[in-house]
Amino acid sequence: MSAVVQSAAAVADEEQTDGFNLIIDALKLNGLTTIYGVPGIPITDFGRMAQAAGIRVLSFRHEQNAGYAASIAGFLTKKPGVCLTVSAPGFLNGLTALAHATTNCFPMILISGSSEREVVDLQQGDYEEMDQLAIAKPLCKAAFRVLHAADIGIGLARAIRAAVSGRPGGVYLDLPAKLFGQVMNADAGKKSLVKVIDAAPAQIPAPDAIQRALAVLRNAKKPLIILGKGAAYAQADDAIRVFVEKTGIPFLPMSMAKGLLPDTHPQCAGAARSTVLKDSDVVLLIGARLNWLLSHGKGKAWGDAPKKFIQVDIEPKEMDSNVEIVAPVVGDIGSCVAALNAGLGVNWPAAAADWVAAVKTKRDDNVARMAPRLMNNNVPMDYHGALGVLRTIVKERPDAMLVNEGANTLDLARGIVDMYQPRKRIDVGTWGIMGIGMGYAIAAAIETGKPVLCIEGDSAFGFSGMEIETICRYNLPVCIVIFNNDGIYRGTDVNASGGTDPAPTMFVKGARYDKMIEAFGGVGVNVTSPDELKRAVNAAMDSGKPTLINAVLDPAAGSESGRIGNLNPQSKLKKK
Ligand code: ADP
Ligand code: MG
Repeated sequence: MSAVVQSAAAVADEEQTDGFNLIIDALKLNGLTTIYGVPGIPITDFGRMAQAAGIRVLSFRHEQNAGYAASIAGFLTKKPGVCLTVSAPGFLNGLTALAHATTNCFPMILISGSSEREVVDLQQGDYEEMDQLAIAKPLCKAAFRVLHAADIGIGLARAIRAAVSGRPGGVYLDLPAKLFGQVMNADAGKKSLVKVIDAAPAQIPAPDAIQRALAVLRNAKKPLIILGKGAAYAQADDAIRVFVEKTGIPFLPMSMAKGLLPDTHPQCAGAARSTVLKDSDVVLLIGARLNWLLSHGKGKAWGDAPKKFIQVDIEPKEMDSNVEIVAPVVGDIGSCVAALNAGLGVNWPAAAADWVAAVKTKRDDNVARMAPRLMNNNVPMDYHGALGVLRTIVKERPDAMLVNEGANTLDLARGIVDMYQPRKRIDVGTWGIMGIGMGYAIAAAIETGKPVLCIEGDSAFGFSGMEIETICRYNLPVCIVIFNNDGIYRGTDVNASGGTDPAPTMFVKGARYDKMIEAFGGVGVNVTSPDELKRAVNAAMDSGKPTLINAVLDPAAGSESGRIGNLNPQSKLKKK
């Protein structure tokens, strides 16, 4: 035997690995053990192999929903949620969710298979040809492509660090089809993997920034704390509670920060929102941006009285984005709030009693005024009657996850349904988008193991409704309540042309969404009164069976665009 033949035989004998296995090993090594995706070329076999290797692989019906699931998994766990898609169209479907993750500061990695570089770059027309890396770049925090199996470990390490360090966000990882089958020596492959150490290092605030912030706060007459979803994400729940309670300052939770401290907490100013925004003199933002959701920190909503803003955020560029921040505190919320707590010392003055009392009175008045509306048992149901029931159910089941989307369904549920524990409420987020519903519900069930209640507008549900098959397939404890008022905003619009087409905001009248889930073996219930709704939801939450409740609402209930109708331009010249 010649020397050449001998060495070839030796190569054939040595243990080998390939791209498929290295990606799986790299994910597992870094504790990324759940994948949300849709199979297809070139990642079908990868999904099978990942499942065989002990990774939980959840196959969806559309990539956007898988992507939303991955994004909220990132929010709930502080680890990047992983979404896996095929090339071109699948990638594009996932991209909406990747941009959403970046906008919302959720860590997520979108992994997409892609076509052959040589063909794509010469634009020779490959199957699902697209320069995915270039397209992803402006929509995420970072984007990487791996061409060699030996670089898979480094590629994933970079993706993880980019997703979770600093301000979290979405990362794109491009894996060309050829990479999966690339073979290399198993030992060298193993050595090439990277276990990421301290992926999101603590960012300690500067001591003088803490002193500056406390000095401003100490002189406040009417202070207010606003907690945002960054504070919820940070999982610094105890430190935040200590800070709020030690200072005695009223706090306002943003939508996904509800429950960080219970909405029923004596200092919660949720039901006195407009008063505290207007009348406060010093506002401390913790993990909340002064974007449209807070009227940019200026204008009518904030009143005329001069205001000073203190902002705690991990992103230095967030400071002064809308108004002057007199005391920026840059660092991770856990470290910042711990430093603030240490700085309070023993004789921190209690927040001014007259201010605290004024906020409390306003809040109690508003709550009392709302109470009778929430107890109505009207048929057809209105939002308040239906939400009054769901509010009690959430109170009795405080550890259940709550998913919420819609227009009126979102705005009213956010205000009416109190939350009692951190990170239980997940909703439309920074963009105020529709379509997160079923993806969020699936990830919430998978990541937390808790029952999930979804409160959905009929329009919002439509964006992800096919995923009820996914919910049934994995037998997840998800109860979906659809507030069905026959249309977008409401079900009473008319076609102004006099033609037979329905108006653009109308759906099929009397639609029975409950029948959809029966096709997949789930439980469908049609309810027309708050009492029936209560019974159906409790039964679903007790049984843990996938359930869809069609809650028939008065088609006249609801207003255009919910609470943000002012953002919807209206023509003064339109035909009536
Ligand atoms: P909300 O919509 O609830 O007001 P935003 O999404 O506007 O919340 O703001 C969240 C903020 O929290 C972002 O500016 C983000 O940079 C910040 N953030 C996220 N995670 C952390 C963290 N661990 N430490 C500090 N700031 C964080
Ligand atoms: Mg509707």
